[in-house]
Amino acid sequence: MEKKTIENIDVYGKKVLLRVDFNVPLKNGVITDDNRIREELPTIKFLLNNGAAVIIMSHLGRPDGEVKMEYSLKPTAEKLGELLGIEVKFAKDCIGNETRKMANSLKNGEVLMLENLRFYAEEEENDKQFCEKLARIADVYVNDAFGTAHRKHASTYGVAKLLPNAVGFLIEKELKNIVDVINNPKRPLVGILGGAKVSDKITIVESLLNKVDVLLVGGAMAYTFLAANNYHMGKSRVETEMIGEAKRLIELADKKGVQLLLPVDHIVTNDFNNPTKIKNTVNANINSDYLGVDIGKQTVKLYKKAIKHAKTVIWNGPMGVFENDKFANGTKAVAKAMAKAKATTIVGGGDSAAAVIKFGFAKKMTHISTGGGASLKLFEGKVLPAVDVIENK
Ligand code: AMP
Repeated sequence: MEKKTIENIDVYGKKVLLRVDFNVPLKNGVITDDNRIREELPTIKFLLNNGAAVIIMSHLGRPDGEVKMEYSLKPTAEKLGELLGIEVKFAKDCIGNETRKMANSLKNGEVLMLENLRFYAEEEENDKQFCEKLARIADVYVNDAFGTAHRKHASTYGVAKLLPNAVGFLIEKELKNIVDVINNPKRPLVGILGGAKVSDKITIVESLLNKVDVLLVGGAMAYTFLAANNYHMGKSRVETEMIGEAKRLIELADKKGVQLLLPVDHIVTNDFNNPTKIKNTVNANINSDYLGVDIGKQTVKLYKKAIKHAKTVIWNGPMGVFENDKFANGTKAVAKAMAKAKATTIVGGGDSAAAVIKFGFAKKMTHISTGGGASLKLFEGKVLPAVDVIENK
């Protein structure tokens, strides 16, 4: 069912409460990357041009329900004002008297930004009264925060139920690019999963086995799968308690006719923090003095081949400890192979998106999602609560 977008609702003369994701990186109060604010400009401009008064709300970091000024959204309000070329008013909280007055007197074409939602514990608790107070300052609710769309918070879920609502352009784009492809992929569909923990990704592996033709596994999570196949993993990060689950998934892949590819060699080092010895293993085993930090050269070849033959590729999670240049080759090679592939290529948010941007392949991808957790849920074919709650067209 298609969801209402801001093009399907009347916002003229209305106060629009817009949930955005301005969770930007800050260093000493200075924004080091303003992409999240820039990406939101089309939605904000559309609302302003159509005669709305826009009240913006967001979270920033994890202040855990307390007022911690290092997580103030003030710098983002200033940046937004600069980018829009108009004054962006700033309220020092979300639901106080003064803030209500500021919202009340806001005119069409004006913008008011609220302070960090997560200064209230009620936000993540989806507290009823908090939702009602937020709803009271506006006539219409718009959600454009894809990064938190898998969360049932007050600002992403509860408040949506209390006002006429729609999604903004960013969420609309994510849904079009991910949901449409996942529901009806050109095959072969190749999934690539990496990252640190199998325990985090068990349900994802299982759901993906129902969708993909080939699943490539890299990152530390591969070691638990290899341990399940009785390979030696040395000092690598193996989740012993998950070996049974990994075995079950390997069997499940087999039953479903999904090709589950695991690394056939690795880049290993003697010490994670002080890597004085680095080598490529000769096979999938890692000897007891070493730990795995990236996929090896033969694995890169194998994975590149699978990506080359794909018609659709979806990727989440780095192939190694890509933050260290010495261990970034596998992740970079996967990104490059996707960039070169004649396939629809979708990169989940978080680390894989950061890697693709860092290595300069962003323009070559069909879609790079802005939300890590949310895009994974869509890869799995799940419905996001914050999207589900929005009215259908
Ligand atoms: P995740 O949040 O589960 O996607 O994991 C991302 C993290 O996994 C990144 O910070 C990587 O450095 C880390 N990672 C990837 N491969 C390995 C590995 N072989 N050993 C330890 N950490 C890894």
